[in-house]
Amino acid sequence: ASGHVVVVGGGYGGATIAKYLRMWSEGGVQVTLIERNPTFISCPISNLVIGGSKTMEDITVSYDGLKNRWGVRVIQDEVAAVDAAKKTISLKAGGSMSYDRLVLSPGVDFMWDEIPGLKTAEAQSKILHAWKAGPQTVALRKQLEAMKDGGTYAISIPKAPYRCPPGPYERACLVADYFKKNKPKSKVVILDANEDVVSKKGLFMKAWGDLYKGTLEYRNNAEVKDVDVASNTAILEFDKFKADVLNVIPPHRAGDIAHKSGLKLINNRWVDINWLSMESTSTPGIHVLGDAIFPAPTMPKSGHMANQHGKLAAAAILNQLAGLEPSPTPVVMNTCYSFVDAKNVIHVSSVHQYDAATKTVQPVKGAGGVSAARNELEGKVAIGWAKNIWADMLT
Ligand code: FAD
Repeated sequence: ASGHVVVVGGGYGGATIAKYLRMWSEGGVQVTLIERNPTFISCPISNLVIGGSKTMEDITVSYDGLKNRWGVRVIQDEVAAVDAAKKTISLKAGGSMSYDRLVLSPGVDFMWDEIPGLKTAEAQSKILHAWKAGPQTVALRKQLEAMKDGGTYAISIPKAPYRCPPGPYERACLVADYFKKNKPKSKVVILDANEDVVSKKGLFMKAWGDLYKGTLEYRNNAEVKDVDVASNTAILEFDKFKADVLNVIPPHRAGDIAHKSGLKLINNRWVDINWLSMESTSTPGIHVLGDAIFPAPTMPKSGHMANQHGKLAAAAILNQLAGLEPSPTPVVMNTCYSFVDAKNVIHVSSVHQYDAATKTVQPVKGAGGVSAARNELEGKVAIGWAKNIWADMLT
């Protein structure tokens, strides 16, 4: 195959497809990756930075492997607009570029209208989400370090679907672990907009009971509707909650560039795709990966899944560039590890296969499952998973 593929976003989906297009075409396909950040910073493992057992350096990987080993042209810039009719993108720094096929893997952006008090940049610098790894990860850690012993950290979870179903519960555990060891009079409160724990419920609840009794409190049906920044207060439907460190994860949707480029959206939030090629159902030639898509049944928004999307779409694009049809039977899988303290981990895994009748990928019955119990061996496996997936994407 030959041609020019432009990839927007060098995260879990975008970096993977950039590398696999080059590797599988043996250099035949030209790939340009446009990413606004100078280096890759991983959300997976970033909760350990917030808990204090890892550093930003541990979760940062350079794009040099993609450039030097795989011959991907990496441009640090932001894609400002897509012209699907002309098959071009324009860059924030100026200029435009044409493509044969375009891949968008921009992750998520936040629906600030849903939390009006957080609309200004000033408010956003005080009440953090830390749901994109980077400066906010460091800033949230600093807020926790500065908090007095006896204080309260509250984390709010939006209604599903959101990025990384177990992620907020993992973060609550790791902050509770930090408090237990360093600020034992302090408390963690989870304000969950959902009716129940969204992921690994039994395992998380067991950890909260065994490890964090008296430290961690879980509240369901507790949707944060607004905030009062001056008093660090979360405003719920019938209640208010004032915290010393307030960590609000607003509801989110497909990243801006995927949201505003005229692709068919579902619920005005997520891009509708064809599961054989990850191509937009409305706009041929544009493939969308990762958190930005409308998920298949029971499919989580995860880095592991975005990596799988990258491989599925790379194979489809190489077929399409060679004038062939995409494979009719894609299969993808997922594993998400969650730390319940700095060492002990639980996992959930699943396999999803294309089903021609429903035109989507469906969970494969009997495949996957969850850990029997939290354990330290999975703590080692979880770090191995992260290092392996970063190598798979970037080196
Ligand atoms: P991202 O990885 O976010 O990549 C998007 C990239 O696009 C970004 O680098 C962004 O800068 C860039 N970008 C966006 N718009 C533009 C533009 N217009 N121009 C140029 N660049 C642009 N998943 C797991 O599998 N396992 C875990 O253990 C796990 N833990 C998590 C813990 C936390 C705290 C969080 C927040 C998430 C976790 N996840 C985990 C989920 C995982 O991070 C996401 O599902 C994954 O990053 C999605 O990949 P993506 O490619 O869609 O988006």
